[in-house]
Amino acid sequence: MKTNISLLTIIITLIFFMSCNETTKNKKENTADNQTARLKNKGAKKDCDNAHWSHHKGPDGPENWKNICTGFATCGGNSQSPININTKKLISGTELESPKFNYYKSKVNIINNSHTVQFNIDKGNKINLNGKNYELLQFHYHALSEHTVDGKHFPLEVHFVHKHSDSDYAVLGVMIVEGKENALFKKYLDKFPTSKGEYKSDEMIDLLSLLPKNKSYYYYNGSLTTPPCTEVVSWYVLEKQIEASAEQIEKFSTILNNNYRPVMPLNNREVKIYKE
Ligand SMILES: [Zn+2]
Repeated sequence: MKTNISLLTIIITLIFFMSCNETTKNKKENTADNQTARLKNKGAKKDCDNAHWSHHKGPDGPENWKNICTGFATCGGNSQSPININTKKLISGTELESPKFNYYKSKVNIINNSHTVQFNIDKGNKINLNGKNYELLQFHYHALSEHTVDGKHFPLEVHFVHKHSDSDYAVLGVMIVEGKENALFKKYLDKFPTSKGEYKSDEMIDLLSLLPKNKSYYYYNGSLTTPPCTEVVSWYVLEKQIEASAEQIEKFSTILNNNYRPVMPLNNREVKIYKE
């Protein structure tokens, strides 16, 4: 009798463990299935999460951005930025208006993200462009300039990125030429990280002082100039430039390390001009 009870206990225990293993195995399979399903549901953008891209020639360079992952396919679109602005083919934008700035003073948080040097600013800085309100999110720099004018690059270009909605951005581009010392660069060029990193400043900067007095602009519809190159940007490239000293331009250009996308075809787009 005792032997029988022991035998029964062993058998029950065995059955218990076997079924337990079965359950664990099912659980694992289910989890794997769920993960695959989740990946499929997330679709195109998922494969871009850890995608590496650069501004330099090679498999991850601008000419290959559209092939890096499905979500970057728009980089091969028909309304891409930057472009060359041909001043002989401009259309007079009679319907266009002068930008109305509601920029204030702001603290800056400077981020070198290894693609650019970006100045994040306080919320509440707005601009009204042709009747629509946009909020200034950040501004950042490129060397050389991304847009060219009559085939010529400028040493630096700054982009003031504004948002109205997820499908409506306005970027104000300003070219920087060699001339007198730039006050903003003087304040920060020696402070922010030359490679990936961050610098926070409590000092208030006057955002309007970063723009030229004359706000005449070239206008066209284009895209973000970095992946995913989404075609949601109204471009306002100011005709007049701001200045920085030769030494400042050289120093900043070394940090930015040719972070410009080559110009893209205009295709059937028009470039308009608003003259102030
Ligand atoms: Zn930019």
